[in-house]
Amino acid sequence: MMEVSLPSHGNEVKVGKVLCIGRNYANHAAEMHNAVPEKPLVFLKPSTALVGNGGTVLLPAESQCVHHEIELVVVIGGGGRHIALDEAIEHVDAYAVGLDITARDLQTEAKNHGHPWSISKGYDTFAPLGPLVDKRKVPDPHGLDIELMVNGERRQFGHTADMLFGIPRLVSYCSSIFTLLPGDLIYTGTPEGVGQIENGDNLEAHITGFPSLRVKVRREA
Ligand code: MG
Repeated sequence: MMEVSLPSHGNEVKVGKVLCIGRNYANHAAEMHNAVPEKPLVFLKPSTALVGNGGTVLLPAESQCVHHEIELVVVIGGGGRHIALDEAIEHVDAYAVGLDITARDLQTEAKNHGHPWSISKGYDTFAPLGPLVDKRKVPDPHGLDIELMVNGERRQFGHTADMLFGIPRLVSYCSSIFTLLPGDLIYTGTPEGVGQIENGDNLEAHITGFPSLRVKVRREA
């Protein structure tokens, strides 16, 4: 579980839902041999998957292939249901850099059987979240470079302008299904370059103008 301090409200709230968007960059959909979706592809992680800056990602014994996915994270401030597209951005309170950690072998097995992704996406520590940035300091969230370094080497690089579904659409769409509450998160999808992480790796995630997110990787005993 994690509490976040909402910049415009100045109060601490518990993170509730961790909503995630799959295949939101065409180049990543292509590298996974997936078609581009016609509407946002939504899945959830439990809030117990969250881990903060300086934390450790634990590789579970059940997986031999855990992948990194760097993503821009939207933090909801004002909740609501059926939020209109042209008002959606007002419901965002902050942004952060995050990682959607994925047990790729378990996900592939689940996909092949038509099973849900919950296990492959939902282990403890599979949702690292960096420090929050007040949305007033981010006038154009679709104008950001996004970069993941693993042991000092660049592994992923992209630009948030390349999202297939922009932030207003994601907020509006998610709110048409789930009532959004203050402290809910939306992980907005990863650009190309996903790959395996190993015991002992150091991950450093950057988005233009944001404080970095640093986590270590350790195989769970
Ligand atoms: Mg992802």
